[in-house]
Amino acid sequence: MTRNKRLLWSLSVFIFVAALLSGIQANMKQPMLLAERFIAGSGWIEIGLIATYGAFLLYHMLLPAQTAKWRLRSWKVFSLAFFGQLLLGLLLDSRFLMTGRLHFPVPAMILAGPIYRGEMSFMPLLFLSTLVLAGPAWCSQLCYLGALDGWAADRKKPSPTHKHLWLIKNTVLLVVISAALLFRGLNLPPSFGSALVASFGIGGLTVIFFLSAKKGKMVHCIYYCPVGTVVSYLKGINPIRIKIDPACNGCQHCLPACRYEALSPELIRERKVGRTCTHCGDCITTCSRNAIRYKLRGLKSESARAIYLAVSISVHVIFLALARI
Ligand code: SF4
Ligand code: SF4
Repeated sequence: MTRNKRLLWSLSVFIFVAALLSGIQANMKQPMLLAERFIAGSGWIEIGLIATYGAFLLYHMLLPAQTAKWRLRSWKVFSLAFFGQLLLGLLLDSRFLMTGRLHFPVPAMILAGPIYRGEMSFMPLLFLSTLVLAGPAWCSQLCYLGALDGWAADRKKPSPTHKHLWLIKNTVLLVVISAALLFRGLNLPPSFGSALVASFGIGGLTVIFFLSAKKGKMVHCIYYCPVGTVVSYLKGINPIRIKIDPACNGCQHCLPACRYEALSPELIRERKVGRTCTHCGDCITTCSRNAIRYKLRGLKSESARAIYLAVSISVHVIFLALARI
């Protein structure tokens, strides 16, 4: 993609992010931006900085050779901001927290929380909206724990795909849903639920720091996290896809780039990516035949990729500006 086209795409992200955050800043009674919670009016400066950061990220990530590097860097920054806010909120000032009260930062709660409480809440709605807008980007750019998983997995070459991948994924999903239903059915007090969520979170961190680091792949996000499994099932509501086209000669050079178990010799033979693909794009530049591509009906793959990146980066930086524990 030419430099001018990249600049135009980046400008569009700047305008979109700035407009959306400005609408929120102007219309919400409660200050949503972090800076605004401390100094009245400074939210406007934060909007300018966040929109510029979004444009900067897109400008670099539109170059295929730079995508993986900037995706992982920005994801780390995202996670650092999230956990930094949690720590500061707990130790220093409750204005760093969303409601002034502690919420467990465990993604499984997005699913289990509403089942246990028997009512819809903000987080599942936010999660579903991102699925519509950015497909599976939740698991490659938007989840604070996923960033830790990516950091741990990035240190080694990924091990081969596990043959019971879907059995494990579905079992964890079922266990989490059943536990939430059981706790609700037995009318157990929230302290029981909190203890279970805390244990599940500690289990997740153990998976990240021991299994993902050892296997060189996103074991937490692919196997352990029930939200990751829901993403794999529902990501099709977003129209963008990753496809392997007939130009593929089966060389398997792309195989080690995928840490999400979405490429295997069998899948490559069938010319398709697995359902756990998160559209991260890490495999794209490894293919000398340009056979793995983003697809969106009626558009060239370059435009499909640009749209995907522009939307997912916009959501990423908007979360960064607004996300609070
Ligand atoms: S690197 Fe390209 S050509 Fe080789 S197996 Fe992967 S998609 Fe096919
Ligand atoms: S197949 Fe490619 S785009 Fe999909 S998750 Fe694997 S590396 Fe990322």
